[in-house]
Amino acid sequence: MYEKLELLIDGTWRQGSEDKSEPVYNPATGEVLGTLPHASVSDLDEALLASQKGFDVWRSVTAFERQKTLEKAARLLEERFETIAANLTREMGKPLAEAKVELQMAIDILRWYGEEGKRIYGRTVMPRVAGMQQTVRKDPIGPVIAFVAWNFPAVNVMRKVAGSLAAGCSVIIKPSEETPATAVAIGRALTDAGLPDGVLSIVFGVPAEVSEHLCKSPIPRKLSFTGSVPIGIHLQKLAAENMIKCTMELGGHSPMIVFEDTDVQSAAKLCAMGKFRNAGQVCISPTRFLVQKSVHGEFIDAFASAAEKIAVGDGLEGTSQMGPLVAERRIAIMDGLVEDAVKSGATVVTGGHRLNRSGSFYAPTILNNVSDEAQIMNAEPFGPVAPVDSFSDIDEVIARANRLPFGLAAYAFTKDPAIVNKLKNELQTGLLGINSTMVAFPETPFGGIKHSGYGSEGGIEGLEAFLVTRFVTETY
Ligand code: NAD
Repeated sequence: MYEKLELLIDGTWRQGSEDKSEPVYNPATGEVLGTLPHASVSDLDEALLASQKGFDVWRSVTAFERQKTLEKAARLLEERFETIAANLTREMGKPLAEAKVELQMAIDILRWYGEEGKRIYGRTVMPRVAGMQQTVRKDPIGPVIAFVAWNFPAVNVMRKVAGSLAAGCSVIIKPSEETPATAVAIGRALTDAGLPDGVLSIVFGVPAEVSEHLCKSPIPRKLSFTGSVPIGIHLQKLAAENMIKCTMELGGHSPMIVFEDTDVQSAAKLCAMGKFRNAGQVCISPTRFLVQKSVHGEFIDAFASAAEKIAVGDGLEGTSQMGPLVAERRIAIMDGLVEDAVKSGATVVTGGHRLNRSGSFYAPTILNNVSDEAQIMNAEPFGPVAPVDSFSDIDEVIARANRLPFGLAAYAFTKDPAIVNKLKNELQTGLLGINSTMVAFPETPFGGIKHSGYGSEGGIEGLEAFLVTRFVTETY
């Protein structure tokens, strides 16, 4: 039932040449799901050569033909939808309903990029010299290397793969070793749809070793990464040596600001949905809840009541609304953040502990009166722990929202257009949600500023990331 785990190199699905592998676990049960082959150095070299060859072929295929292949792959993913979604839940832990929403979003991204690839436009520029023609061209940048985290096993992979392919690039992707089956299933849909050999390669291994080897090659021209800030900085340094252009989708620490003029009850419910989605393991998850003093008490009660109603369990059980953390290692991190917050004066309103059952389950947790000095107000929790504190006025809360080096997402609940206008102008964030936590769609740019990275995925900006601008002047 679980996907057969293989590498994809030069159009062939196969095991690694050195027989190195690692087990893949189900975080809800601890069960071993499968054995993941590692690519050896010679496998990586083959993938690099294949990606150069694949690029030379794919760049010459018309955008209309490329779109047909991507559309065929989208249909194959739809046919295989139930199996892929169940395996996504098995390896990552998120509830099946969330896995289905994610997979549908990945298919939408594939379709959107495929169509948008037909709309890569250059321009002509008026010449200073009579008779001269001046053209600005947009061409595919070249072979891409991509590394992605485990929290969105379908969407993280698809954003990079579909963007590369629609632009006419080849791509070598190293998905997360913790969630490989979804990536393999996406790869199979693309190869079954007729993608030429070498255009897409999928490799696994020790992340630091794979990325270092690929970055040292002269072949890749673009690196796209989704993951934590420290790894993003590390990869950027490696890429610099070969002048490889980067897109960095890194972590965040998103403030959620609740103003007193809002409907506090419905804001608290939406906050709980936003915060505990995927057990808080979302880069744009609201992570610092700053609530105006006069409604702080009412918000805490409503937020806690919504959190306590969340059914936590194995994502394959239809009733589960929140699954386990991706792996056991994340439990100790949550415990440490809670303990540190309590030491600095916070109180645990609900949760604050792992669940007494097998699997890496953690209770939806709310901490109150958490000071800005607590670790959780400064380091991305990436889990189901929500710190709350109060604020007095808008200038104070904007300063507190902007005080961290992150700048990925920010949210606010308010009905006041003057407040919204000030937030739009002054919050240092790549994504802003007003009375909503929905900030990611195939057709809109997604990405952060400051230490949260640069470059966008999605929207016309997402396609631009895989293109180079060139200028031609002609006179006869
Ligand atoms: P991590 O930083 O060790 O790993 C994150 C991902 O990066 C993993 O999937 C891993 O395979 C990959 N990775 C790690 N080192 C790499 C390297 N040298 N080269 C290439 N890829 C590499 O962290 P973790 O414990 O797995 O996850 C928790 C942290 O990751 C959180 O603090 C969060 O900031 C970050 N994260 C961010 C996102 C995001 O969407 N921005 C997603 C998942 C995790």
